[in-house]
Amino acid sequence: DPVLELSGIEKSYNPGTPGEVSVLRGVNLALAPGEVVALVAPSGAGKSTLLHIAGLLDVPDAGRVRLAGQEMQGSAQTARTLARRDMIGFIYQFHHLLPEFSAQENVELPQLAAGVPRGEARSRAAELLGLVGVGARANHRPAELSGGEQQRVAFCRALANAPKLLLADEPTGNLDPETSDTVFDVLMGLVRSTGMSALIATHNMALAERMDRAVRLDAGSLEQV
Ligand code: ADP
Ligand code: ADP
Repeated sequence: DPVLELSGIEKSYNPGTPGEVSVLRGVNLALAPGEVVALVAPSGAGKSTLLHIAGLLDVPDAGRVRLAGQEMQGSAQTARTLARRDMIGFIYQFHHLLPEFSAQENVELPQLAAGVPRGEARSRAAELLGLVGVGARANHRPAELSGGEQQRVAFCRALANAPKLLLADEPTGNLDPETSDTVFDVLMGLVRSTGMSALIATHNMALAERMDRAVRLDAGSLEQV
């Protein structure tokens, strides 16, 4: 089964009003296990809307969302919440780390919420932070870390529960170009070493070329780039 399968996804905002915006008009996409796909879209094309629907944070007006073969469209809110927690990791342009907790704690928290025992959460967090090169900064709070370090910690948090699917919205978009390249390498290393599938939105065609393939969101549907 594909890890993520979107078929015939349609989405409008403010339907039936003069302010109606038809954003997605029949989006189809299947991500094979381990496949890493770039989502390229001009600003306002509906990239965030699409990622929110794929991540079960929003519901489409029409179409189907399947995660690992499981039909999510029309399933109960609790089932969607559980599927999101167990199967999906999110990374945003800005890290959204909890400011009052250390890097280590930020990576432990999603595991504790998922019922992982404390000792296990602690060692997995330390291992992940080591892998991305911020092991020595584990006890610092986000404000004490550089932008690149903060984003690395956010990657660890997103991968803490070993999701099958990573959804990333401009994951290095707020970093300077040089840092962005390095941090993107770190992300790709993590994704490849776990074998997860990923849909990664980016404006950067050089980054898109380092993924398995790219799709462009244009006029409400996806085309291969
Ligand atoms: P992108 O992430 O590609 O910039 P979005 O998915 O955020 O695009 O938005 C696509 C379009 O839908 C834009 O024109 C945006 O202004 C509009 N839009 C997004 N969210 C809403 C909303 N909640 N209500 C009305 N319009 C929205
Ligand atoms: P991000 O891409 O940072 O996740 P959002 O998805 O919240 O941002 O919004 C993306 C775009 O959609 C922005 O251009 C924003 O102005 C527009 N948008 C979000 N919510 C609304 C809304 N309620 N009404 C109109 N436009 C919106």
